[in-house]
Amino acid sequence: MTAPTSRQLELTDEQTVQMHDLYRHLHANPELSMQEHRTAGLIAERLVAMGAETFSCGGTGVVGILRNGEGPVVGFRADIDGLPIKEETGLQYASRATGILPDGTQVPVMHGCGHDVHVAAALTAAKLLAGAADAWSGTIVFIFQPGEETAAGAQAMVDDGLWNRAPKPEIIYGQHVMPSLAGTVGISRGSAMAMADSWKVTVRGRQAHGSQPQEAIDPIVLAAHMVVRLQTIVSRELNPMQSAVVTVGTFHGGLKENIIPGTVEFTVNVRSFEQNVREAVLASIRRIIRAEAEASAAPAPKIEELYSFPLCYNDPGATEQLLGEFRGAIGDEEVHEIPPMMGSEDFGTLAVAIDVPAVYWMLGGHTAETLAADGHVAGNHSPHFGPAMEPTLSTGVRAATTAILSKVGWDAESM
Ligand code: ZN
Ligand code: ZN
Repeated sequence: MTAPTSRQLELTDEQTVQMHDLYRHLHANPELSMQEHRTAGLIAERLVAMGAETFSCGGTGVVGILRNGEGPVVGFRADIDGLPIKEETGLQYASRATGILPDGTQVPVMHGCGHDVHVAAALTAAKLLAGAADAWSGTIVFIFQPGEETAAGAQAMVDDGLWNRAPKPEIIYGQHVMPSLAGTVGISRGSAMAMADSWKVTVRGRQAHGSQPQEAIDPIVLAAHMVVRLQTIVSRELNPMQSAVVTVGTFHGGLKENIIPGTVEFTVNVRSFEQNVREAVLASIRRIIRAEAEASAAPAPKIEELYSFPLCYNDPGATEQLLGEFRGAIGDEEVHEIPPMMGSEDFGTLAVAIDVPAVYWMLGGHTAETLAADGHVAGNHSPHFGPAMEPTLSTGVRAATTAILSKVGWDAESM
């Protein structure tokens, strides 16, 4: 008799139906970052039912540990939060949920980034593995992470003693649904997703009547110069062979056309792949903002860091191994190497905290029909983002179990 492999950990029809029910439930009931109380409750309940040890961590994070004798420890992470977006998918199970942002604003909430796919696939993978104790030996740590969208959750779990309370894995895996073809998987070698830094800038001027510019220091004109000049960092300061993005995503100032306001606020978002590039870009932003204020004889602007995402880095050796495993379990045609993305993730924080390798892959979520529609794809964070349930979910389960079994399966190289 040969030992079972990942290819033999098949979902039964009943398990597939249960997974779809779970997915529809999660999709219809999204919660905002770090407020995922009901989602966390559901996850913990399911984990307990399958015999996992669980504990909550980092507020609304949940950890589920499957112990099955001697062997390696492997980690798998799924993020669980929704976004303040009004869903416009028209799906039967579309969300009508609302939530309250930290500033008190009531907003519609949607699983607009597909984290419901991640939760449903991870819970289903855990259930398959829990029910197939003969197929593996070791320990699996499932990390259901809150607050990915605010870059708060991974750090909150680490700060709450995640790795003192759970066994330390030798590697951590994770996946994310994307608007590529459902049934396919894409992996980058090395850098997978960019570092991100977000700052809020408060530009201070002097308020006066709109007819009296001589009495004012106009922060709108000043901030406009800052925004324009920030565009020269990537185009005029950076080596063209290196890459970065500088985006001013919000710009607010003034209440009435005949008042020169006292302040303007804008936010700037930076993406980069190399630490020296990141530092150079951030230093340039600071320099430009201060110098433009000085050029207008304005008070020094206030610069606040909103959040920072680390680099999402795929260990090259582990990625190479996983590419082989995925090609065997999912198919040569379905598994692709993809270039790094300018999007960002706090997944890396979990592995960096204990200095272990990590691999993060992309899961296709669209059918050929939805991808082909006028060449325009409703991607993550769009109100129209509605991944096809299949083959997205079953591929997510297959990818998760394959990666995990490549470490703890009885035919794993490491055994
Ligand atoms: Zn996401
Ligand atoms: Zn997102």
